[in-house]
Amino acid sequence: MLAPQIEASEETPLFELGLLARDLYRELAPELREATGLDIGLRQEGIAHLAFDEADAESLLARVSWQRQQGHVVDWLDDEEVATRWPWLRDCRGALWAPEEGAVDAQALVAACLADARRLGAVVVADEVRSIERRGGRVTGVLGRERYAAPDVVLAAGAWSGLVDGLPAPMPVAPIRGQMVELARPEGVARGIFYVKHAYALFRDDSVAAGSTMEYAGFDPATTEEGITRILDAATRICPLLRGRAPRRTWAGLRPGSPDGAPLIGGEPALDGLWYATGHGRNGILLAAITGVIIRQLVQREPTLLEDLSAVDPARFWGWIRG
Ligand SMILES: Cc1cc2nc3c(=O)[nH]c(=O)nc-3n(C[C@H](O)[C@H](O)[C@H](O)COP(=O)(O)OP(=O)(O)OC[C@H]3O[C@@H](n4cnc5c(N)ncnc54)[C@H](O)[C@@H]3O)c2cc1C
Repeated sequence: MLAPQIEASEETPLFELGLLARDLYRELAPELREATGLDIGLRQEGIAHLAFDEADAESLLARVSWQRQQGHVVDWLDDEEVATRWPWLRDCRGALWAPEEGAVDAQALVAACLADARRLGAVVVADEVRSIERRGGRVTGVLGRERYAAPDVVLAAGAWSGLVDGLPAPMPVAPIRGQMVELARPEGVARGIFYVKHAYALFRDDSVAAGSTMEYAGFDPATTEEGITRILDAATRICPLLRGRAPRRTWAGLRPGSPDGAPLIGGEPALDGLWYATGHGRNGILLAAITGVIIRQLVQREPTLLEDLSAVDPARFWGWIRG
């Protein structure tokens, strides 16, 4: 999902980064299609966050109000407007409607980026990096089954980033498990993306993807009966037509969580040539393209797309980790 407006409850530098990131996909999708012939499945057809009680409605209305004051495109739909647009949803008190939000097909995005990287001369090596290699205060490469020399190394190993040896200090990134369910799409229900508190359902052309959980379960990417039941309950709360439907597929993934929920994007002051692009938590798909752009700009010592990177600067954690 590309949902900075849906996820944010206040104006923060991360919100600004999320909006830039979302809008970058508008340029990237046609560029990748032209370069590789692959479609990343970008759809910016809007997301609705539904309110089922007065407290939900109040907090979403407050969100609509501050986002509008900041000039963002967002609306409040009352219960009748929601029922008219999406009659198959459960009756609700209204919804925050963000028409510029949407989704991308994450697997198609990875395939297109890989194809484009290869086209531009990148060599893809399947190996597991065990450690970062250094000489004095400079990176010299990485060690896996083989030794790979490099003047710059970008640590982008997701939830596993802290397991690589040779880092100057412990990495404040931990796995946060998220479970998902896929169901067949009920007859007569159109495409759309709907959030409720702590859950969402994405109605695609032939399926519904519903999620998710946020669990600290170590590196175990297993689904659980409790997690799947919770997701199915939430999906049914959104759309009663989903009641009793057997999942077509269930799966879980590990998000790379950071202590403040924001990613670590930037250089390592204690080791020249080491860069971090990790800790993206719930927003690693949204922020994937912009992270790539910023890392390239940092490595090439160019001005960055977003001038103030303090919200994502890894150094914000070094004070308490390194003393
Ligand atoms: C259920 C679920 C739903 C989500 N929904 C959304 C969403 O709607 N929108 C959104 O923006 N984000 C979403 N996310 C979050 C998003 O998927 C992550 O933030 C993102 O995948 C992180 O990207 P990454 O490249 O840092 O890590 P990953 O995608 O985890 O990739 C890291 C890669 O590094 C490899 N690796 C690890 N260690 C090594 C090593 N030592 N050597 C070599 N390779 C290594 C791994 O095998 C893996 O391929 C969701 C996550 C989950 C689990």
